[in-house]
Amino acid sequence: SLLSKLKDPSLATDKARIGGDWLHAGDSGKTFDVINPSTGEVIATLPDMGRNEAARAIDAAYEAQKEWARKTGKERAAMLRRLHDLVVANADDLATILTLEMGKPFAEARGEILYGASYIEWSGEEAKRVYGDTIPGHQSDKRILVIKQPIGVVGAITPWNFPSAMLARKMAPALAAGCAMVAKPAAETPLSALSLALLGERAGVPSGVFNIILSKDAPAIGREFTENAKVRKLTFTGSTEVGRILMRQGADQIMKLGLELGGNAPFIVFDDADLDAAVEGAMVSKYRNNGQTCVCANRLYIQAGVYDAFAEKLSARAALMKVGDGFEDGIDAGPLIDEKALEKVEDHIADAIAKGASIALGGKRHARGGLFFQPTVLTGVTTQMKVAREETFGPVAPLFRFETEEEVIELANATEFGLASYFYSRDLSKVFRVAEALEYGMVGINTGLISTEVAPFGGIKQSGQGREGSRYGIEDYIEVKYLCLSV
Ligand code: ADP
Repeated sequence: SLLSKLKDPSLATDKARIGGDWLHAGDSGKTFDVINPSTGEVIATLPDMGRNEAARAIDAAYEAQKEWARKTGKERAAMLRRLHDLVVANADDLATILTLEMGKPFAEARGEILYGASYIEWSGEEAKRVYGDTIPGHQSDKRILVIKQPIGVVGAITPWNFPSAMLARKMAPALAAGCAMVAKPAAETPLSALSLALLGERAGVPSGVFNIILSKDAPAIGREFTENAKVRKLTFTGSTEVGRILMRQGADQIMKLGLELGGNAPFIVFDDADLDAAVEGAMVSKYRNNGQTCVCANRLYIQAGVYDAFAEKLSARAALMKVGDGFEDGIDAGPLIDEKALEKVEDHIADAIAKGASIALGGKRHARGGLFFQPTVLTGVTTQMKVAREETFGPVAPLFRFETEEEVIELANATEFGLASYFYSRDLSKVFRVAEALEYGMVGINTGLISTEVAPFGGIKQSGQGREGSRYGIEDYIEVKYLCLSV
């Protein structure tokens, strides 16, 4: 496979990382395959580990963390800077690994690698600025100091849709704060995580500080992470369903949880919007990563005055998308991740059609077969349809028609999710009214792309808790302690 053609083939490792060891076998001797979703080809065979290996990784992290926490912020920053530089220098190889295991277009994969690197850079810089506080005493002999300390050992569980960046976004602030990590990447896409750990080792991250456990039995690893008393925090990106399970499991030891869960993003276009800009915004927000991001526009609300024009422009624009293998030139969308994902997309479209929607574009599996699907636009969509409530996680843009601002805010907020939201308007008062009324952790205004390491990414309601990126992000890996002195 292409893995042997990397500039540095050693980056494609098939071994788990526990403490100072790279392990090609787990206790059971079982293995699992990593498959290229574009071709169905097996690209790697990895050890399938269980709770025991997870426990050993946690032990290794527990020991290593004490020494890591004693390093200065500047020392940890220097290491993360070296890791950032290595990631950037190896971006082509890392993107190749990513596209092979996940399917996204190579250019998008490269973008993801650099996006992940930006969190490593940012978090490293923040390592030097974990400031405490002094508080005027409550009695004349009292002095009060607030210090900030790393939480300790962090368990991380990450998804397949951004196999590199979702891990970088957790690992970097955790390590910057002085925590050690045991990560379990999604079994579909573990190679990107392993290459990050490998570069971490080359950057000088001490053994045990950043461990990768490989397993197809995610629930077993989730149990170990939530029941092992040495783990002080669990950070998870994935579905709300699994987030809920982990929260329940973590209740016994009052586990601190960082949760980046599902979304059901509204994308609102008002009559006064710049329509061409709105179409471009919808293109990136809806079809990036083939609709497989938690911040993807899931419900597009278009005001009546521009509904038909928007539907026409978006369909014409999406019709130009090139669907294919991520390594082909000029590709805009790769395959979906698996057959189940395709079935969900088909189910959502069939349900909408049965309830009266029309297909303006696409609607079917792509002619090239496999896991490819046509970019799709649905018109005449109503609140009775599944697309109104569930995350489709595929290249389907359902267009809802609305009349008034009050109506669309109610529609947009009528969901248990609260991650990303978007709207287009050129009326300044309306911009502030709507931005403040949307019950979401993030609001894109006249833009469809909002992710950056300098801003706090995260959701409200059942989309999660905690924030990743910005100066807020590192706080998730820190405990506050106050010292009360009598002088
Ligand atoms: P997705 O729809 O992105 O696959 P999931 O929530 O199913 O979302 O998966 C995200 C991550 O959670 C993956 O690494 C997966 O292996 C893991 N996972 C799935 N089920 C569990 C569970 N019960 N406990 C812990 N982790 C789980």
